Amino acid sequence: MSGPSETPPHVVIVGGGIIGCTTAYYLTKTKTGSVTGHVPIKVTLIEASKHGVAQGASGKAGGLVARWAYPKELVDVSHPEHEKLAKEHNGANRWGWRYVGCGAWEGRVELAPEAAEKAGGKEERSLEKELGLPGGSKPDAKDLIWVKEDLTTGYSPMAGDGDTAQVHPYLFTTSMFELAKEQGLEYIEGGVTEVLKEGGKVTGVEYVDNGSGEKSTIKATHVVVSAGAWSPRIVEGLPIAATRAHSVTIYPQAGTVISPYVLFTEITIPSKKAGGRKTVSPEIYARPDNEVYACGPGDSLALPDTVDDVEVDAEACESIIQHVTAISRELRGGTVNKRQACYLPTVEAGGGPFVGEVARVAKGLYLATGHTCRGICNAPGTALAITELILDGEIRCGNFRKLSPSVTL
Ligand SMILES: Cc1cc2nc3c(=O)[nH]c(=O)nc-3n(C[C@H](O)[C@H](O)[C@H](O)COP(=O)(O)OP(=O)(O)OC[C@H]3O[C@@H](n4cnc5c(N)ncnc54)[C@H](O)[C@@H]3O)c2cc1C
Repeated sequence: MSGPSETPPHVVIVGGGIIGCTTAYYLTKTKTGSVTGHVPIKVTLIEASKHGVAQGASGKAGGLVARWAYPKELVDVSHPEHEKLAKEHNGANRWGWRYVGCGAWEGRVELAPEAAEKAGGKEERSLEKELGLPGGSKPDAKDLIWVKEDLTTGYSPMAGDGDTAQVHPYLFTTSMFELAKEQGLEYIEGGVTEVLKEGGKVTGVEYVDNGSGEKSTIKATHVVVSAGAWSPRIVEGLPIAATRAHSVTIYPQAGTVISPYVLFTEITIPSKKAGGRKTVSPEIYARPDNEVYACGPGDSLALPDTVDDVEVDAEACESIIQHVTAISRELRGGTVNKRQACYLPTVEAGGGPFVGEVARVAKGLYLATGHTCRGICNAPGTALAITELILDGEIRCGNFRKLSPSVTL
């Protein structure tokens, strides 16, 4: 409870990816709760990028929002919240919310030898996506006309109608941020260097202001760490690893309408290195504005200091383009729009994310991080849970005991 003589409740969120921005949205919307003595809280978000929010994985992800994703307890809260948000804020127009077909596509292509060489070589890491659950009524893939039928050896829908949706992750994240600002969010552009503590409680954070380059501190009663792959640099010992992944976006050739599908592909291509053939697995996402997004495997290049320093490997992007355009004439005749890379936050022991307070490290310190390849799906559930925990002292929207960081830390 916050009485007149106590510090008024002030939540500082570290990191402006989808998790930080969505948490800012739910906190600024709810504002009061029993734990904070029904005094409206102040909320501040600090983001390290000089280019604003959503510059990391949250701006460069595919955008799948699936009922069949994991962990189930978080998806069961997140999916209806995604639907509610889309309804309340016209998500269809604002961030490309819609239901899509989703399937596993298999095929075999011939590539020119130099293209096949480019396609392999470097160490690759699986993004460890868990594929969908069979069941429900199957979506009809007859309108999947932008992938060559004669190369297809198999297509199986991964979930029933209405089980797989999508958002444009950059637009969703920036919308959450803008809506939170309209509700009173304070924004600071700077890199947090330390969470300050006293007597086992958080008291604030220290950060380097991007404008002045000076170190500053800001007082806080609650600190939420949602810094994605950078979170262990703020909370020591946090078992989160960083995996870099590349992606590209392509506008198809003029006159093509790309039907709404997300494809998890297995494309067999020629390879000199792997006994003549190898399988590559780009994920391909059609978007409502007719742009097509595709991402490749991960690698282990070390995490740089900030999101602005992420290196894009031109060859890795070229491989994705080669693979995707090999199975689609419409994309081969199109225009590549973006070549980009980002880091995925992965809980080292598997599972995750961490959602909850780490009172053992400091009272008032909350983690909302480690969402691996499901942060777009699970942002609303995470944000709602953290909001309930801060304002009312308990998570009421679901049973998130397994996700509590106090189990691991
Ligand atoms: C190729 C690819 C495809 C994906 N596709 C999907 C998908 O289809 N569906 C899905 O659900 N998920 C998907 N994901 C996963 C999803 O992108 C992530 O789980 C999610 O974006 C993580 O969000 P975040 O907010 O935790 O981290 P981030 O987006 O990385 O944001 C963290 C933010 O914290 C900031 N920060 C870091 N350190 C500091 C500091 N010291 N001070 C202040 N700010 C700091 C960073 O600059 C960054 O803006 C995909 C990921 C990849 C890589």
